[in-house]
Amino acid sequence: MQKQRNVVAGVDMGATHIRFCLRTAEGETLHCEKKRTVEVIASGVMAGIVGMLDEQLRHFNARCHGLVMGFPALVSKDKRTIISTPNLPLTAEALHGLASKLEDALNCPVEFSRDVNLQLSWDVMENRLTQQQVLGVYLGTGMGFAVWMNGAPWTGAHGVAGELGHIPLGDMTQHCACGNLGCLETVCSGLTLKRWYEQQPRNYALSNLFVHAGNVPFVQSLLENAARAMATSINLFDPDAVILGGGVMDMPAFPHETLIAMTQTYLRRPLPHQAVRFIAASSSDFNGAQGAAIFAHHRFLSQSDTALR
Ligand SMILES: [Zn+2]
Repeated sequence: MQKQRNVVAGVDMGATHIRFCLRTAEGETLHCEKKRTVEVIASGVMAGIVGMLDEQLRHFNARCHGLVMGFPALVSKDKRTIISTPNLPLTAEALHGLASKLEDALNCPVEFSRDVNLQLSWDVMENRLTQQQVLGVYLGTGMGFAVWMNGAPWTGAHGVAGELGHIPLGDMTQHCACGNLGCLETVCSGLTLKRWYEQQPRNYALSNLFVHAGNVPFVQSLLENAARAMATSINLFDPDAVILGGGVMDMPAFPHETLIAMTQTYLRRPLPHQAVRFIAASSSDFNGAQGAAIFAHHRFLSQSDTALR
């Protein structure tokens, strides 16, 4: 019988899709796949995740040494508790004790993380920025944001740092999914775009919104809100670079150059205005899951990888 491979797993739990990667002990990507979230969690999030992993572990005759899962959520400092996840269709009951239940079922350690911290880890490594100060802005379902500082994601005192989408600079007449009034995400997020799109019949798909409606006042105002939030964070942190990504920025004809130019008008002169670099994330599709698998490799398999210390 063939010898079992040693692997770790990374899962990126999105509102629409779950992405999953296996990484070998040698640090190579063995497998990546994407499934619809509603289908995976139809029989419960626990059973769904375990089933998805078991299938591939059997296929590759592999033994899993650890799993890191990213959630669009507040995750506690101990990396075992999902505190709040307004954009995911999961109940508090389904999430209760999930880390321990997954560990029992998979027979390996499990850690949770804020999804954007994992995505930024991948983007920072891919762009060889581990020794620099980097911000990640990920405009997707929400307005994702993460900070890379001193060689790792900066997580704050309680594990929840970087909630740029929930600064109170949105529409003060609207409640955000988090429960607060007037968060930035009420005027700047994929959810806001979808709400505007659904206000009346359109003769194009939502995914082509920027092709057909890039210049309408609503879209311009969304970009303006994103630019002000980005400029605020850049003036606060003075980063070397800002990574731009997320599902909305991946849509055809998304006006990257316009967004960057709008942001630059608000940057403090002469610095960081002259120096900060804007870098497009290579692809948002598996970056989060790859980032999760890299973290899992570092935490549970690697003795020598220093990149995330
Ligand atoms: Zn909020």
